[in-house]
Amino acid sequence: MSTASSGPWAASYATLDDLVAGRLPDDNGRYGAFGGRFVPETLVQALSRLENGAREAFRDPAFRQALDNELSDWVGRPTPLTRANRLGEAWGATVYLKREDLTHTGAHKINNAIGQALLARRLGAARVVAETGAGQHGVAAAAACARLGLPCTVYMGAIDAKRQAPNVDRIRRLGAELLQVTKGDQTLRSAIDEALRDWVSDPESTYYMLGSAVGPHPYPWLVCELQSVIGREARAQILEQEGRLPDLAVACVGGGSNAIGLFHPLLEDRQIEMLGIEAGGTGEDHGLNAATLRFGTAGVLHGSYSTLLQDEHGQIQETHSVSAGLDYPGVGPEHAFLHSIGRVKYETISDDEAVAAVDECCALEGILPALESAHALAGAKRWAAGRRDSCILIGLSGRGDKDLATLMSYPRGNES
Ligand SMILES: *Cc1c(COP(=O)(O)O)cnc(C)c1O
Repeated sequence: MSTASSGPWAASYATLDDLVAGRLPDDNGRYGAFGGRFVPETLVQALSRLENGAREAFRDPAFRQALDNELSDWVGRPTPLTRANRLGEAWGATVYLKREDLTHTGAHKINNAIGQALLARRLGAARVVAETGAGQHGVAAAAACARLGLPCTVYMGAIDAKRQAPNVDRIRRLGAELLQVTKGDQTLRSAIDEALRDWVSDPESTYYMLGSAVGPHPYPWLVCELQSVIGREARAQILEQEGRLPDLAVACVGGGSNAIGLFHPLLEDRQIEMLGIEAGGTGEDHGLNAATLRFGTAGVLHGSYSTLLQDEHGQIQETHSVSAGLDYPGVGPEHAFLHSIGRVKYETISDDEAVAAVDECCALEGILPALESAHALAGAKRWAAGRRDSCILIGLSGRGDKDLATLMSYPRGNES
């Protein structure tokens, strides 16, 4: 999309104090140097309306009550915090899993989808548009819109639609219109482009439901607000169950929504180390991974200044991960900021390591984790290896039933 800056490059002297005190994002939607609103003029107004509407909604007790009710009665919150005794024994650590895999539709994405659907209804939207990559956000968006009686259109790249046929069917059964995108890279990136294009054509009565903590301001903030229920619950639960805060919180990072939801409410507890795990794929070269913070450089993608995987001409690179949900060349601006100030460390886990972590979690805990979540498990295991008797909180972002076909065709004998 063409770019129109919403103000000068923000100063990058913002600190963690600014973030935990709620002074970030700033008036330009910036987290230090990152974030902002790089969109066509027509969307600037729509984004301002959305921001004002969301801030009002969060201040309104009736809206909060409606959201809480949906989260408890329909999504299935609070999700349990499970002490993973056998994984802990194997790793020499105390391990807790925050069970987003047990939510309705099987992943954390529903927390965001139902929150934004309530917001769309409150703002008087006549229809909702959404993008989807692997189909998880498309399923969550379709389900949330059905729940509230909102017409929903989901854009999905044609290549993704072919790879994720069961989710195409799920989305349609849940009553959404699914439009395949045959332009561009025909995956998540072009699906977001098309959804934005749709929104530009009618920003007054269409609501754009973005699925991760990316995109122009206010989305990274809005999605963080809606996903922070993960970290708030987990913090209270681990204090209750273990009597202390963890030494480490770890989560996988695609666009960054489940990770920011877990991390954000814990940022103030400075003794807690934090680790975001990106998709290391099959190697460090261009096109073999989706490790944006590890290998990317600063630039603008989908309306936001952040870190992205691009070549020296600013062309977005191909990405690869065995887990479709981590396969995105960008990352949310709050993560780019947390990376820049060193509050959160970001590491990579390879396809082979993630597949091995799925098997280990199945065998030792009786839980089939999503391949995305398995990256966090493998990252936690590596971290625990150098440290005896630490306490680790892992964000288990989703369940792995959707990955069975991928796992079955994955060449065995490679892992470990
Ligand atoms: C989509 C997805 C992710 C990655 O998205 P984030 O916005 O980075 O959280 C991770 N885990 C699961 C299960 C997903 O469906």
